[in-house]
Amino acid sequence: AKEAGRNTYVLYAPSMDQSSHERLALENALRKAVEREEWVLHYQPQIDMNTGQIVGVEALIRWKHPVYKLIPPSEFIPLAEETGLIVPIGEWVLKEACLQNKRWQDSGFPKIRIAVNLSTAQFMKKNLYKTVEKVLEETGLEPQYLELEITETMTMDVEKASAILDELSGLGIQISIDDFGTGYSSLNYLKQFSIHRLKIDKSFIRDIISDESNARIVGAIIAMAHHLGLHVIAEGVETREQMSFLKEQKCDEIQGYYYSPPLPAEELKTKYFKSVTV
Ligand code: C2E
Ligand code: CA
Ligand code: CA
Ligand code: CA
Repeated sequence: AKEAGRNTYVLYAPSMDQSSHERLALENALRKAVEREEWVLHYQPQIDMNTGQIVGVEALIRWKHPVYKLIPPSEFIPLAEETGLIVPIGEWVLKEACLQNKRWQDSGFPKIRIAVNLSTAQFMKKNLYKTVEKVLEETGLEPQYLELEITETMTMDVEKASAILDELSGLGIQISIDDFGTGYSSLNYLKQFSIHRLKIDKSFIRDIISDESNARIVGAIIAMAHHLGLHVIAEGVETREQMSFLKEQKCDEIQGYYYSPPLPAEELKTKYFKSVTV
């Protein structure tokens, strides 16, 4: 099977192990899903610690599989990244997220940010800012209500990342560093990047109460970020104790099951915006 040419369809290859078959099957299903746009976004609230108000949501993709129902991103994002399918998927996510945010705004709800996860392939694709600019134009969403989440590893080529981030920031959108603290920490460069927010990874939040050193790390990240003029959001906040600690440490925003899991658009609307009279 390995020698099969690029355009050869391998229907039966005894040398392939079971996992290769599974992988191929998943890849084919994923291609169909891209064609049929079998995706749905769930939205998790981000809460301002000072006001207690929802100020943003993170858009998180699920695969609306015709048979297996909702498949979580951990089951298909890695393969989507390997195959490059993440690019069309990511473009669908960006557009849908902006459209949804505009719909909420148009129905009279308070304006909030929507955060969209970017993958490395999207970030590195030439003229990403043009794609983003086009989506903003097409959906009519004002740029300050869109946030893109990137990870530390995407900033390892400092020169290149700087240029991309400058172009994106030039559009007036916001940028956050996701999973902060887990990757290559280019602390020296943080201040020269056009970014707005650090998102402290949930692995640090998980045991801030039980683990004194994690608590100190979180405290230090918040202080450092504020010193650099950046905002801080903590993800994976599950308990009142974690929330109180983060509040004491002057963390700006929190996101996590303590407040709400990710929700379908309709549910988010009825739960958080129902008091608004249009
Ligand atoms: P992430 O960007 O770090 O997203 C946060 C994940 O933590 C989400 O998992 C969310 O449901 C989960 N979470 C939220 N609150 C809590 C909590 O209190 N405790 C714990 N333990 N977990 C919490 P989800 O939705 O399964 O997404 C997993 C990952 O898949 C995301 O991690 C992100 O890396 C990726 N992903 C999701 N949507 C997209 C997308 O549209 N594009 C790309 N490229 N990646 C995506
Ligand atoms: Ca994220
Ligand atoms: Ca994260
Ligand atoms: Ca993550």
